[in-house]
Amino acid sequence: MKQFPSMEDIVSLCKRRGFIFPGSEIYGGLAGTYDYGHLGVLLKENIKRVWWDMFVDEREDMYRVDASLIMPAKVWEASGHTETFSDPLVTDAKTKERYRLDHVLEDAGIDPAGMSLDEMWQALVATGLKTPKGNDYAEPVTFNLLFPVTMGASATSASLAYLRGETAQGMFVNFKNVVDAYHPKLPFGLAQVGKAFRNEIAPREFVFRLRELEQMEVEYFIRPDDWTRAFDEWLSVMRSFAVALGLPSTHLVEKEIGDADRAHYSKRTIDFEFTFPTGTKELWGLAYRTDYDLSRHSEYSSVSLAYLDEEAKEKIVPHVIEPSLGVERTLLAVLTSAYREDDMGGEKRVYLALPKAIAPYKAAVFPLLKNKPELVSKAREVFAMIKKEIPQIIFDDNGNIGKRYRRQDEIGTPYCITIDFDTLGENPEHIDTVTVRDRDSGTQSRVAIAALTSYLR
Ligand code: ATP
Repeated sequence: MKQFPSMEDIVSLCKRRGFIFPGSEIYGGLAGTYDYGHLGVLLKENIKRVWWDMFVDEREDMYRVDASLIMPAKVWEASGHTETFSDPLVTDAKTKERYRLDHVLEDAGIDPAGMSLDEMWQALVATGLKTPKGNDYAEPVTFNLLFPVTMGASATSASLAYLRGETAQGMFVNFKNVVDAYHPKLPFGLAQVGKAFRNEIAPREFVFRLRELEQMEVEYFIRPDDWTRAFDEWLSVMRSFAVALGLPSTHLVEKEIGDADRAHYSKRTIDFEFTFPTGTKELWGLAYRTDYDLSRHSEYSSVSLAYLDEEAKEKIVPHVIEPSLGVERTLLAVLTSAYREDDMGGEKRVYLALPKAIAPYKAAVFPLLKNKPELVSKAREVFAMIKKEIPQIIFDDNGNIGKRYRRQDEIGTPYCITIDFDTLGENPEHIDTVTVRDRDSGTQSRVAIAALTSYLR
């Protein structure tokens, strides 16, 4: 049995079964963008649903936010992004093709952690490496990842805005609104799921590095002396989320990020790294952002973001713990973990062993034969009955049973329910029962129609 696929296996399954397509494909594609088909949307929705449950709805101290994607330049000056949200860019001196200098070094077996731009350049020069086109590299520059947007009719600097580089800032700028509206007691958190945009130098590895991405983020506001407890609490929520998504512990490492490599705002960061088909890389991050963001926004907006701590009878600027998770990297980790190839009935099959909570469909219902009206009408009846209780099911009468099993296996449907002649009473012992086939083992059991929904639950 093959477990853990190559990137080609995943890309090909996603295209074949309609999960993910290259963005604007009929126009040759747009690098760093992907579009989602019906099944990709369902899988993403289910992942986000589990996130909302575990990070927000199972708690009592969380508030949702949905902020604008376009935010004025001032926000990004305050957050430090216009100054430091950049990557080292190196170009081919002849063709002008662009590469990320730290990635070029990593690919050459050199760890760029903690190196300045100049140190990275010296390290590259010392290797004598040429570009993939066989030319010299030109001297590097730092390249800012924010996407500028010009608002309105005049192109003055006053109208300069940016597509948000992270969802986090949408929560910090609404801190005061939330406090004034709901009067939450510390500690409390804001949660948001939404798009972010990064003008990545070299988007690559399918949906791992995108220019348009989606994040699931929490900003958790605390008293400063509470940070280690709150940090550990969110660490444990993230670990549980990984388990709920079926990510194997063999493929996950928690990496403590050293002083030189932490973001400018962070006092402690742990990255959850996952072994993707292309290597072990950042999946999610957990950061202690101190009072950096609220203090900076107070300063730049001239609006006080201090919080009146009624217990201590003093005004404080809360500190922040931030679990930050990318939807697409999570999706890629889920697909990597669930992908299987085995032999069933003497034939190779591919299936997705997705946890039931995130499988796009919970079950598929088939009539054994498409051209027998009595089977089809019974199957329709069973389908309608289940759908009332469990809406995420599909009716499938296309092709023979073997083909339908293949199709449902590849999209990760946990159960296939077949209505056959026994259901109709050909074998009186089995009247009003159906066969239920289990995706992972392929075993079939006879289940009474009346007991089906509770069986699926
Ligand atoms: P990297 O070092 O890989 O560029 P990062 O440290 O810049 O990532 P963060 O700013 O911590 O990433 O963003 C939080 C999360 O958002 C990441 O852990 C990841 O899941 C996701 N993410 C960040 N950049 C991208 C991207 N370009 N494409 C897809 N997901 C991303």
